Amino acid sequence: MSPANANTVTAENQQQVFIPPQILRRAPRDYQQIDIYKDINPLDWEDWHWQLKHRIRSKDELSEIIKLTSEEEKGINKASGRLSMAITPYWATLIDPEDPECPLRRQSVPTIAESVIGPHEMTDPCAEDRDSPARHLVHRYPDRVLLLATEHCAMYCRHCTRRRLVGEHSESDSSSKFDAAIEYIKSNRKIRDVLISGGDPLILEDEVLEELLKSLSGISHVEFLRLGTRVPVTLPQRITEKLVNILKKYSPLWISIHFNHPKEITKRCKIACDMLAEAGIPLGSQTVLLKGINDRPYIMKKLMHELIKIRVRPYYIYQCDPVRGTQHFRTPVACGINIMEKLRGYTSGYAVPTYVVDGPGGGGKIPIGPNYILSQAKGKYVLRNYKGKIYTYLE
Ligand SMILES: *Cc1c(COP(=O)(O)O)cnc(C)c1O
Ligand code: SF4
Repeated sequence: MSPANANTVTAENQQQVFIPPQILRRAPRDYQQIDIYKDINPLDWEDWHWQLKHRIRSKDELSEIIKLTSEEEKGINKASGRLSMAITPYWATLIDPEDPECPLRRQSVPTIAESVIGPHEMTDPCAEDRDSPARHLVHRYPDRVLLLATEHCAMYCRHCTRRRLVGEHSESDSSSKFDAAIEYIKSNRKIRDVLISGGDPLILEDEVLEELLKSLSGISHVEFLRLGTRVPVTLPQRITEKLVNILKKYSPLWISIHFNHPKEITKRCKIACDMLAEAGIPLGSQTVLLKGINDRPYIMKKLMHELIKIRVRPYYIYQCDPVRGTQHFRTPVACGINIMEKLRGYTSGYAVPTYVVDGPGGGGKIPIGPNYILSQAKGKYVLRNYKGKIYTYLE
């Protein structure tokens, strides 16, 4: 690549720097190392619309980049009718072409295991549709609402809780479709916090997103806005200067980013997060606990440490919801509790998120973790610390 493109992100910047060999069996590839991308101009590669337009949607395209297993081939064929497959070229370069257990591969490439419906699985495990007072809105907690701003994402995660909604369907992303939701928020003075999610709201065009942010921030009782997104991880090229300048105008705006594995934190991802952090936007993370992907304490700890280094404060680890076709991703709850046990005390408090189970049927997020209270009597608590040593606190 020529140095003339020094102001764009170079192939070198795409490379992984942070992850030790025991976590990464094989380094991600530069895109020029992949035959079908070798002639792509770096300016195109850096263009988020180019990335979106060239997402990998078929078995044939994907098999030019990675060696597919028969489970994957069958899964891709079946996925056409349900949660679509779409993988950005950027994300594809991070996938290990030889290893079907690659954590990024398992999150993005469907397998036949998605056809298996587990015993307690549901279409809408968190009962979001039931708690919807207006189109695109979920109102569960007294003072805040969830706005499902789009059905589209840069990449479709195979463990997605909202797979009933998201995918490459036809619904268009125009700002008028939020009218009913905005009216509801306006007429409900208790709502002080609006979480804009989806799908992925950062997949909206700048103008549509800005219109939405403008209408919401104009409501006098709305104190702050939040965005839930995975774009800095799956399509970091979307975080442009123009976008950052729009977001900056609607401060206080917080962003929660969905991260599941340390391998996702590339130099390119860091650039995107830096741009957001430097615009004064507080960043948090959300992680889904996934079997074989991040269910080992050392991987989760590594992820939390890398997040702190890019100024993303770990916020939640979610137990994988019992959504249809995700049984192969779900761990026992004890696995999550054990991870929390191995974080608290052993690393910076800032690197310790809250582990939650979303109460099936609409209970909301319920925090769970190791129990540190051994017994409790009048005026007296018997506690244990992270090492298991016992202390008595007298009130
Ligand atoms: C997660 C969620 C929120 C936000 O919850 P916080 O704990 O405040 O981050 C709000 N509404 C719904 C329906 C949610 O699922
Ligand atoms: S980015 Fe979020 S909404 Fe989109 S597919 Fe992944 S988990 Fe689902």
